[in-house]
This record gives sequence, structure tokens and C-alpha cells, in this order.
Amino acid sequence: MTPTRNRFKRILLKVGGESMMGERSYGIDPRAVLKVAKQIKKIYAIHTQVAIVIGGGNIFRGIAGAKNGIDRATGDYMGMLATVMNGLALQDTLEKLGVPTRMQTALSMPAVAESFIRRRAIRHMEKGRVVILAAGTGVPYVTTDTGASLHALELKCDVLMKATKVDGVFTKDPTKYEGAKRYKTLNFKDAIEKKAIQVMDTSALAMSQENNMPVMVFELFKNSNLVKAVKGEDIGTYLASDVKTELAK
Ligand code: UDP
Repeated sequence: MTPTRNRFKRILLKVGGESMMGERSYGIDPRAVLKVAKQIKKIYAIHTQVAIVIGGGNIFRGIAGAKNGIDRATGDYMGMLATVMNGLALQDTLEKLGVPTRMQTALSMPAVAESFIRRRAIRHMEKGRVVILAAGTGVPYVTTDTGASLHALELKCDVLMKATKVDGVFTKDPTKYEGAKRYKTLNFKDAIEKKAIQVMDTSALAMSQENNMPVMVFELFKNSNLVKAVKGEDIGTYLASDVKTELAK
């Protein structure tokens, strides 16, 4: 691969299931998947090594199943299978755009995808293939945020990028409160202590903090944000252990 002048050479991109459903209230909208894939193609085109952890919340979450009487662990496995459906949709769409991919799953299903093998995933990225990681961690009681944090560490990514619907981390939910302010930078300690701030699961944050894996949170579809993030431009919210918590001006 051509050497890159981007700030981040290898990234772990967490794409929530909701990005796959567009205006629908449930499931997969192929137009939404195409929008996601087009953003990913842009960073593939500038020689970024990319691993994607795909969520499944647009189809099923174990915690919601538990509220309706499904055993929590069973529901979580159903949620993991939902991420595989999203992964396949994203793989298909990326390849139609000419982006080479490999999908690996944390739950073995060899007829569908490769099983997750760390060194192999790294090799795929080195060869310029976008790696889609589905089924989260392969175990229940956690979410794909934790999977993203784990995979970012073991695949030696430079940063974990979490694509969301809002442009970063806010003091309160910006979709509900007008006065919500965006953090430009956020120290992990503050992110964990201020429970009102919704960034990621506490386990995912704690793992990122303990292992010094910076996290960027931003809106995927806004102004080529993903390319800007890879190039190191100041967008969304940047979380790390060595930054002061500051609001955006
Ligand atoms: N899940 C799990 N273990 C994992 C990852 C996911 O049990 O390592 C289950 C869990 O039920 C979760 C669902 O899969 O709610 C879908 O993932 P998630 O909620 O993280 O999707 P997102 O919110 O990113 O769309």
C-alpha cells in the first residue's frame, strides 16, 4: 500500500446498527447502508487501514428481549446474530462500490464468514482489505462498544472512532435539550464519572482508558467527517487520558 500522510494509519470504526436503518424504525434500509459504505470508501481511497465493528441495535438488543421475557443471554446471542446480518449487508454494499473486504465473526459460522483471527485480520488490513467484525465479542452481557474497544486494542489501531447520529459528546442529549453543549475534548476520567454523558458503555470506556486507546465520537454523515477524522482535523469529540475536558467554542 502507498504510504499515508494521514494522522491515523489504522482505525477501528464502530458503526451502530441505527446507521443501517435510515428513516425506518427497524431493520436494514439498503440506501442507508449505501450511505455508510460511501463514507468508508472515502477513507479506503486515502489508504487508511480500516476495521469496522458493526452493531445490531436496528434489529435486536438482548436487553430489550429480556424486558419481553427472553432470557438475557439468549437475547444477547440474538443481538450478536443481528450484527452478522448488518455485517453481510455492509460487506455486499462495500464490494459493489469496489472496496475489497473480509468479514470475520466472533461466533464461528464458517459458511458465512471467516472466524475472528487477530493476526489474519491485521494481515487483511495490511493488504488493503476493509475488515468487518461481527458478533461483537462473542459473549453475552456486553455490547458492540466493548467489542470495538477490545478489537481496537488487539488489532493495534491508532484510534477508536465511534460514528453516531449527533456530532460528538454533549453535556446533555442534544436531540432533547436545546442548551446541550458539545465537548471538544473529554478526559476519560470525566466521561466515566459523569454518568449523564452518554459516550459508550462504561466497560468500553474503562478498557480504552486503561490501555490509552483514544476515542473519537462524531457524526458519520456530516461533511466528510470520517475523512477529516482520519486526517486529524478537529471534529466531534476527542477522548483520551492526556487531554483536559473542554467544551467546543
Ligand atoms: N451483543 C452481545 N455481545 C457482544 C456484542 C453484542 O451480547 O459482544 C448483543 C447485545 O444484546 C447487544 C446486541 O448484540 O445489545 C446488538 O449490539 P449493540 O447493542 O451493541 O448494537 P448497536 O447499539 O451498536 O447498534
